[in-house]
Formats: sequence, C-alpha cells, structure tokens
Amino acid sequence: MIGIGILKGMAVTLRNFAGSYFEKERLITVQYPEERSPLPENYRNFPFLIFDGNDPDAGLRCVACQICEKECPPQCIYIIKSKDKKPDYVGRPQFYPATFDIDISVCMSCQICVEVCPFEAIKMDKDFELSRRERFDHLLFRKEQLSKSNDYYHKIHPIEAAAVDKNLAEAAAAAEAKKKAAAEAAAKAAAAKAAAASAPTAVASPESAVGSTSAPGAKPSETTNPPKET
Ligand code: SF4
Ligand code: SF4
Repeated sequence: MIGIGILKGMAVTLRNFAGSYFEKERLITVQYPEERSPLPENYRNFPFLIFDGNDPDAGLRCVACQICEKECPPQCIYIIKSKDKKPDYVGRPQFYPATFDIDISVCMSCQICVEVCPFEAIKMDKDFELSRRERFDHLLFRKEQLSKSNDYYHKIHPIEAAAVDKNLAEAAAAAEAKKKAAAEAAAKAAAAKAAAASAPTAVASPESAVGSTSAPGAKPSETTNPPKET
C-alpha cells in the first residue's frame, strides 16, 4: 500500500519521542559543552608526548631518534636533537629533543608516528577542541604543549596505557638482569685472573724438560738423527 513506509517511520519517531520522557537511553542528545558523551578507548585525534613522573623535561620518554619525523607521511613533525644526554627509563644516557613541534593543521591523525616509535614516547590524544583563530602559529604545537603525563595517558587510554607500562617494566627488568649478569661475569673473570696471578710458578727441571713422559729414574733417550754427511 502506498505510504505504508511513511506511516511506519512516523510510528518509530512517535515511539521514541514519547519514550524519551520515560527512558533515559532514548535521549540521544547531550547538552554539549555542559554534557559530554564518553569517547571510546580507541578514539584518536592528534599525537602527544609522554613524560613519566612530575617533571616534563626530566621524564620525557622521547630520545629524539627522529624515526617518527622521517616516517610521518605529510612531514608535519620537526625535531632538533639535544647536544647533551639524560638518563632514560632504564638509566641509559640518551639524547632528548631540544625542539619537538607538530603542525596539527597538517597532521592527518594516521598514528604512524605512534606505531614506529620504539620508546613508547608518542601516543594519540583525544582532545578535539582545538579550533584556533590563527591558522599558522597557533596550530603549531611545541614540545611544552605536546608533553603530557603518563597519568593523563592512563586516563584517556586505560587499557593501552596499562599494556605499555607492563612492556616497559618487563624491558627495564630484563635490562637490569642483563646488567647484573654482566657485572657477575666481570667479577668472576677478575677473581679468576687474580687467582692465576697469585698461584706459585712451577720451575721446570732438565729431566722433566727432556723426558717428561718417561718413567722416574729412566735415562733420557738418545737422539736417533743420523749425522749430516759433508
Ligand atoms: S599522526 Fe600521522 S600525520 Fe600526524 S604526526 Fe603522526 S605520523 Fe604525522
Ligand atoms: S617520539 Fe619516539 S620515534 Fe619520535 S623521536 Fe621521540 S623516541 Fe623517536
């Protein structure tokens, strides 16, 4: 019958309209910005840099290896490596970025920088309220603006952040065990060297030098080589 589809659609609309007064889940509109819908765990917008602890400079995980800068398809990451080094999460001295900028007006949220980073130093943020009046300078995010704590990362991506923490803790434990094993091996080698140096040196007797394999008291055998003919 003509118009049956319209009537069905109107019935759905009417049911939802009336039901929204009694059932909260039928209210699909939120009063933004006072109310906000929770974002899913895997929602992503633009990258940010993670630091451990409370100090964004000392705790910054990035070691300025520049892999993300090379791999970024639209080339919107700009890094200048430091001249000095600071310890990383396992205590190894590492470089750090003296400058780390991302032009978010160019970034396409592909997450490749996150995938290629070997240090779990760069992750995707969920902040989407980033509109600015200025196109150029205000959309170029500097290191200070990009640096956010690991606690923040846990807040926006709790499952992913817990997995990353576990990986880093395992890597730190493995590095510590390797260091300990190397120290033990070095100590053992030094002890063996010291023991060899302090042992009394045996003086070789003529008998033992000539016939060390003959029975005690036996005369050394005479040479069997014939004299040379002239
Ligand atoms: S998300 Fe993609 S485009 Fe944006 S900075 Fe990372 S690699 Fe570049
Ligand atoms: S964010 Fe990661 S890949 Fe990029 S420079 Fe820092 S350590 Fe290297």
